[in-house]
Amino acid sequence: CGIIARIGHGSAAETLLSGLENLEYRGYDSAGIAVQNGSGVKVHKTSGEVSDLKSSLDSDPHGNMGIGHTRWSTHGPPTDENAHPHTDTAGDVAVVHNGVIDNYDELRTELTARGHEFESDTDTEVIPHLIDECLATTDDTEQAVREAVDTLEGSYAIAAIVDGEERVYAARKGSPLVLGLDEEEWYLASDVPAFLDHTDEVIYLEDGDLVVLEPDSYRITDLDGTPIERSVDTVDWDP
Ligand code: GLU
Repeated sequence: CGIIARIGHGSAAETLLSGLENLEYRGYDSAGIAVQNGSGVKVHKTSGEVSDLKSSLDSDPHGNMGIGHTRWSTHGPPTDENAHPHTDTAGDVAVVHNGVIDNYDELRTELTARGHEFESDTDTEVIPHLIDECLATTDDTEQAVREAVDTLEGSYAIAAIVDGEERVYAARKGSPLVLGLDEEEWYLASDVPAFLDHTDEVIYLEDGDLVVLEPDSYRITDLDGTPIERSVDTVDWDP
């Protein structure tokens, strides 16, 4: 029920974990993060609380970028396997998702027929597999994410990372997503408390927006790839 993503210089894991703690008020039954470093995408996830996730990490998961999630189950019970992030079969694409994918059953049947293997009961797991499949026909990951997202029906706030790329991809339709702009770090979250310790400069994303974050830049487009300008707001938050 909560998403956080972070990209910048230095380690991402602590920011992701504290972001998830700041989203705990939204309610959840499982938690997880994925970070990207020189040796691939590493996923850590568990049913239970963010504190359980923290104690399951024996060392700081290194990586300057990553995504995190607190899950409120809609499809499949709150098990370790059903916790987000979810990946494609090879584990190269990791995705966190809030919302419900209405056509997941049909997509999963088609993907399974084409050789994809699923490990969870979630609707979410079709998303990394779709991105992976789109990546087979293009070198442009942004385009692959756009195509994958375009096939989804339902509601979503999504953040994704791909092995070997210093980028976070995100999209929303019907579920909240806000971009946080710090001097040297970008954040994405379902709600501003996730990153308010770091910055109060935000862009509220709108339905149909697709975002690409890189360590020193970000861009927003629509699902056709047309660039979109959104205004930067300063959050006046009095907790
Ligand atoms: N539908 C997804 C699931 O059941 C995401 C739920 C959520 O928004 O946390 O895993």
